[in-house]
Amino acid sequence: MALPSTYADRNCSLARALEIVGERWTLLIVRDAFLGLRRFGDFVTQLGIPRAVLTERLRHLVREGVLTRDDDGSGTVEYRLTDKGIELWPALHALMNWGDAHYSPAGAKRTLRHDRDGALLGADGRCRGCGEVVPVPEIRIEPGPGFTPGKAVVDPVSVRLNAPRRLLEPLETPRPR
Ligand SMILES: [Zn+2]
Repeated sequence: MALPSTYADRNCSLARALEIVGERWTLLIVRDAFLGLRRFGDFVTQLGIPRAVLTERLRHLVREGVLTRDDDGSGTVEYRLTDKGIELWPALHALMNWGDAHYSPAGAKRTLRHDRDGALLGADGRCRGCGEVVPVPEIRIEPGPGFTPGKAVVDPVSVRLNAPRRLLEPLETPRPR
């Protein structure tokens, strides 16, 4: 359910933004899109989300221009972040940092680096090596000191996601036959 609109929300862009990404699952779908997931079945595997809910959330994100839905004509449908969707990255990064700081005593769950020089990213999104604000496709994500592989049954999607990789790089999984 969307948050109820109130008079006060009319002058609050956070409330407006939460109408788009504030529903349960939605930011996790966006996170997985940053991690390179594009296919419906991969989102289901990775999130364990009910299919009907995923369908509804994806539809909403496409309608709002956060994702595109591309059908290649042979039945393969892919969802990808638009530029507008990619602009959500600093918000996700800030929430990840906040979660690490307060709920991950062993350190960051995932470490972010500038892929070009391997230096760590600061909380401000700048590379601690070269000082650049690192563009999203140049950010490398890898398991950090606080990372604990959780699933008893390791699926191929998780295995690929937990290896060091660049954001937005498509996750190649075998097509179902
Ligand atoms: Zn750098």
